[in-house]
Amino acid sequence: MIKIINGREIAKDIRSEIEIEILNLKNRNIIPGLAVILVGDDPASNTYVRMKQKMCAELGIRTKDARPNSNISQEELHALIEEYNSDNEIHGILVQLPLPDQIDENLALSKVLPEKDVDGFHPANVGKVTLGEGGYVPATPAGIIEILLRSGNDPAGKNIVIIGRSRIVGRPLLNLLTQKRKGGNATVTMCHTSTKDLSFHTSKSDIIIVAAGTTNILDASMIKEGVVIIDVGTNRVEDSSKKSGYKLIGDVNFDSVAEKASAITPVPGGVGPLTIIMLMKNCVIAAGGSFK
Ligand code: NAD
Repeated sequence: MIKIINGREIAKDIRSEIEIEILNLKNRNIIPGLAVILVGDDPASNTYVRMKQKMCAELGIRTKDARPNSNISQEELHALIEEYNSDNEIHGILVQLPLPDQIDENLALSKVLPEKDVDGFHPANVGKVTLGEGGYVPATPAGIIEILLRSGNDPAGKNIVIIGRSRIVGRPLLNLLTQKRKGGNATVTMCHTSTKDLSFHTSKSDIIIVAAGTTNILDASMIKEGVVIIDVGTNRVEDSSKKSGYKLIGDVNFDSVAEKASAITPVPGGVGPLTIIMLMKNCVIAAGGSFK
């Protein structure tokens, strides 16, 4: 029978480790601080930011936020980032994506001080992570590595397919999973929209990580018996039985793959809780905390 990997439980374990480190910081008179810049009023971004701030409040991480209008100029956004760069109470800065069309996203993200870039999007951190020389690892890929290790699915020696090459999920994961260290040592194939035959790759894979943002991208006909599936996708579909009018589903056809896969992360309750907790961990590291 397929095992459902409980992301909430794994996140809870990591949370306990973070709580200890926050206490250690408190004994040194340091309160970790996270600044959030949320441009405009995108409902999904609003929800993500609310969840992150709620977790900060629960852990005793100080938060400050700026909620500029969606017509903010590039220079105004840079000035906001600069304010938090020079704020001694702030150790981590999060610029919630996506940003409006008039903003050059890469340019804006490069204005965050690398040591406060807890999202790991600054070119300096991307470079360090790629070279295996430290740097902040983006929260979702970091969380996926934790899920694999803590659910007894060490990637070492495995054939892994990643579907999706975004800079927040697929690309950093490719780097992490191929490095010669704990959580790495896998042989990785990256698939994307120009991949000709997805099944050719997925059918040979021991672990499949799906981050495409497209529902039903993977079903039983495309996988081998016993594969482990990490479903990163979060897609809103209408559901009149819910108060919100929608529910979240993943990228994978869950009922179909359940016949053959050995384990899978559910949506919700799989990767999502890890993304939030790993951001908190980066914030605590930015404040001077350390983890083994
Ligand atoms: P993105 O749109 O930036 O990238 C999607 C990638 O998937 C692209 O690289 C594209 O090449 C690939 N892709 C799309 N359709 C494909 C297809 N039919 N065949 C092969 N490749 C295909 O998305 P993203 O930001 O990486 O997010 C992906 C999904 O993961 C989204 O549903 C997003 O909401 C979700 N997500 C969830 C979490 C979480 O914490 N649970 C975090 C980040 C992203």
